[in-house]
Amino acid sequence: MGKEFTQWFLHPSDESKKMYHALMDNVITLIANQTKEMTQPFSGKTREEIESKVREILSIPVAAQEMDQVMNEIENSIVRNSLWISHPSAMAHLHCPPLLPSLAAEVIINALNQSMDSWDQSPAATYVETELIKFLTKQIGYSHDADGTFTTGGTQSNYMGVLLARNKACQMHFSAHVQKEGLPGEARKLRILCSEHAHFTVQKSAAQLGLGMDAVVKVAANDRHQFCVEDAKRKIRQLRKQGLLPFMVVATAGTTDFGSIDCLGDIAELANKEQLWLHVDAAYGGALLFSHQHGHLVRDLCLADSITIDFHKLYYQSISCGAFFVKHQQDFQQIAYHAEYLNPEEDLEEGIINLVEKSVQTTKRFDALKLLMTWKLIGTDLFGKMVDYTIHLAKETARLLKKESCFEVLNEPELNAVVFRFLPSHHRENQEYVDEINLAIQRTFYQSGELIMAKTKQGGKVYLKFTMLNPLNTIDNMKVQIEKIKQAGEKIEKEQGENRREYSVYC
Ligand SMILES: *Cc1c(COP(=O)(O)O)cnc(C)c1O
Repeated sequence: MGKEFTQWFLHPSDESKKMYHALMDNVITLIANQTKEMTQPFSGKTREEIESKVREILSIPVAAQEMDQVMNEIENSIVRNSLWISHPSAMAHLHCPPLLPSLAAEVIINALNQSMDSWDQSPAATYVETELIKFLTKQIGYSHDADGTFTTGGTQSNYMGVLLARNKACQMHFSAHVQKEGLPGEARKLRILCSEHAHFTVQKSAAQLGLGMDAVVKVAANDRHQFCVEDAKRKIRQLRKQGLLPFMVVATAGTTDFGSIDCLGDIAELANKEQLWLHVDAAYGGALLFSHQHGHLVRDLCLADSITIDFHKLYYQSISCGAFFVKHQQDFQQIAYHAEYLNPEEDLEEGIINLVEKSVQTTKRFDALKLLMTWKLIGTDLFGKMVDYTIHLAKETARLLKKESCFEVLNEPELNAVVFRFLPSHHRENQEYVDEINLAIQRTFYQSGELIMAKTKQGGKVYLKFTMLNPLNTIDNMKVQIEKIKQAGEKIEKEQGENRREYSVYC
C-alpha cells in the first residue's frame, strides 16, 4: 500500500527522485518561459475573464490528473493572469521582483521544511537565523545587547513593537504584568504618537492589542512628508494635560507613499526626554543600511528601542521575509512563554536556543536562508549598488516629470517612490475633474496591462505613484512611459471635453 505514496515524498527510491526532478524541471521551465512571454506586466484581461479562467481549473479531482495537463492549466489560467512583478513596468506598490538566489533558497527551505520554533526542529537553521540577526544588529549599529527575530513582514513586526512597548509601559507606569493579568484599567490612558504618513498597521496593532485605534495620535508632517517634532511636542503637552499617557512614538524610515524618512535623531531625543518607547518602522527604508550613498539617512536607527525591517520589499526577497529588532534583548521577556513540549525552562539552562521565545508565531519558516544565500551569491556591495541605482532612477524620473508642465510632482524622492499627477491644460482648478482624469489614466494603463502604477490620495486629491523598486528598470523606459502617460492624459482630456460639449448641446 505504502508503495503508491512513495513517489509523492522525498525518498531514496528512484520513483521519488524521478518525480521530484519531473515536477521541479517542469515548474522551472514554466517560469523561465514566462520571462520571454511576459512582454508586459499584466495580461490586461478583465476581472470577469480572469475569474472565469481560474474557476475553470478549480474542480478538485478524486483521481490524479496527468502532470502535463496540470502544468498547462496552471500556466494558462494562473501564471499568465498573474501580475508579472519582475517586469520593470510593474511599479505600483512596495512589491519587489525577487532575486534568483532567493528563489533558489526557497527550494531548499521548502524541501527541508524546518520549523524555527524549537532547536530540535531546526538544528542548523536556528544558527542561521541567530547569526543573521546578529549580523543585521551590527549593521544597524546596535550593541551586543540587541536581538531580533524573523517575521512574516512589517505588519507582524509593527505589531510586536506595539506589544512589547505596551507591556513594558504597563509594568513601568501601573506595575501591571499584562502577559499574566491582562490589561489594567489605566491602560485606557495609553497613547501612541506617529506621523500622519505612518503605516496603517500602527493603528491596526493598537486595535488588536486592546488599546483601540483612538490610542494612536497623528502628528502632522512637514512639507517633506516627515514627522514634525514640534507638533509632537505640542500634542504630548496636550495629552498630558488631559491626564493621558503617551508611552510610545513610531517613526517611519521610508513612508509607504512617499518613501520619506523621518528625522530619527530628533525623534530619539524627544522619546528620551519624554520617556517614550521609540519604534522605527523601517519596513521600506531599512535597505539603506547597505546603501553606499544614502546610508546616513538611517544612521540613527540604532537609537530606536525596536525596529521593523522588511526583506520582501527593498531587499528583493520573495514573500514573506521580514524581521523585528530590539535594542535590549531583555525586552523579549515581555512575551516569553515556556511550553513544556517545546521550550522547557531546562533548555535555557543547557544553552539550547528555541526561537519561539522571541516570536508571536509557533511553526515558522526558515526565511533567513534566503538572505544568507542572496548575500553569499551577490555580496552586500552589489546589493547596496542596486538599491542606490533605483533611488537614482526615481530622482531622475521626478526630474523628467517636473520638466513637463502637464505634471505636478508632490515629493522629492528619498527612496524610490514618485508621487505625481497629470494636470489637464484646461480646468485645472476643477478638483473633481482633475481627479477623474488621473483615475482614468491609472485604470487605462492597468487595463492595457502595459504599465502598472498605483493611485493614492493626498490632501483629498488623487495622485499617481511610481514605486520604482526594479533595478532592471531604466531611464529610457521611464521616458517612454512618461510620454505615454502624457498622451493618455491628453486623449482623456479631449474625450471629456467632447462629452462636455455634447452635454451642453443637448441640455
Ligand atoms: C509594507 C509596510 C508595512 C507592512 O508590511 P507587510 O510586510 O506588508 O506586512 C509596514 N510599514 C511600512 C512603512 C510599509 O511600507
